[in-house]
Amino acid sequence: MIEQYQIPLLKDHHTHPSISAAFSGAIKLRNVPEKADALALIRNSKEEMTVVLGWNTSYYQFSDEELESFPPVVICNTSLHGFLINPSAKAMLSNKHPDVIANIDDEEWVEANIYTILKFLTNLRPLETARLKAFYDDELLPLGVWYAEDMLLPNRELIAQFNELGYRDRTRLWADEDVLTSLTEEDRQQIDGIKLFTDGALGARTAAVSIPFLSGETGLLNYSDEHLRDKMAQLRHYNLPFAIHAIGDRATAQVVNTTHSLRQEFPDFPPVRIEHCQFISRETATLAKSLDIALCPQPNFSSDSGVYTDRLPPELCRANNPFRMLIDEIGYVPGEDLLFGSDGMPHGAEYALQQSLFPLYDEQRLTMDEFIQGYCMPDMTHGSLNVTVNTQEKTVKVEVCPA
Ligand SMILES: [Zn+2]
Repeated sequence: MIEQYQIPLLKDHHTHPSISAAFSGAIKLRNVPEKADALALIRNSKEEMTVVLGWNTSYYQFSDEELESFPPVVICNTSLHGFLINPSAKAMLSNKHPDVIANIDDEEWVEANIYTILKFLTNLRPLETARLKAFYDDELLPLGVWYAEDMLLPNRELIAQFNELGYRDRTRLWADEDVLTSLTEEDRQQIDGIKLFTDGALGARTAAVSIPFLSGETGLLNYSDEHLRDKMAQLRHYNLPFAIHAIGDRATAQVVNTTHSLRQEFPDFPPVRIEHCQFISRETATLAKSLDIALCPQPNFSSDSGVYTDRLPPELCRANNPFRMLIDEIGYVPGEDLLFGSDGMPHGAEYALQQSLFPLYDEQRLTMDEFIQGYCMPDMTHGSLNVTVNTQEKTVKVEVCPA
């Protein structure tokens, strides 16, 4: 059966427009499954410093000889939680970024300092305001996205750039402690919240899970319980909401339990939102809901259950993105305390709708209404999407109609 819908443009609650705009010229390996093609793309690069995004470790690895044969290059794992910097790039960058270069091959350091690395990447080349505008207007909008929250403010200049473009209502800006402390009081007024990371990601096998990856690892927690509690208690003085990255069930439980004790100690503790939240137990979700903790998962990541069968045991494939449990059993409400975003993997309405309406597991499925509530602008002022759903073939086609 063919179903037709007209729905508003997307409101992407979790992504990285500044990183994406900074890398709009980067080599993208997301759709390059053959290693020979990847090698040719990197070897032929004419950039002074080549940046490569979207490397999927389940497709191929790069040998030391290959890395040495490349021009200066920074290769980012598709999850943005794993990086290769080749010797010639290390030589170029070691003076200005000694910490990053010394520790980039240390998985634990990388997870604990992921924000520093992402800012380092974004700041490799200055981001011109025109590139930021082009990213919103020429890349996001044709994909059906009007609004995109920036989860990683790389520097204070970006605030002025959003203001200059008049695009402040097309984003929310989340900053980490380093950037927050570097801001003037006036700049700080423009920050919408504080970003923290508590574990890694599936792509780098560093999400903190209680059922081990097939390799036997159980991922990494960036903080001890006490350290996270102290950090959040200290940061509450900014009186800003928290957005806390937590993917594995050990990380989501840690965030929820920590928030629980902080709420008892400080009744006016700021709002908390969990980013990604791919794995969460019923018990943790129930407590999270009772504490008004919002969740910001990525329907796109339902496909991890198929993409990462090389590392996820079947129990984890099934447990990923348990949207039916969250909505039907726990009472999470899309658009209120359940907000959806893409994390830029990839951006756009079509893939998000495909993964929402036709995921691998029924437990991951969203209805069109839930998608609209949790993932769309409140109305069609800025444009709309004509969506054609083929329920037999399980396909989605999207036509973007800007206002
Ligand atoms: Zn993100």
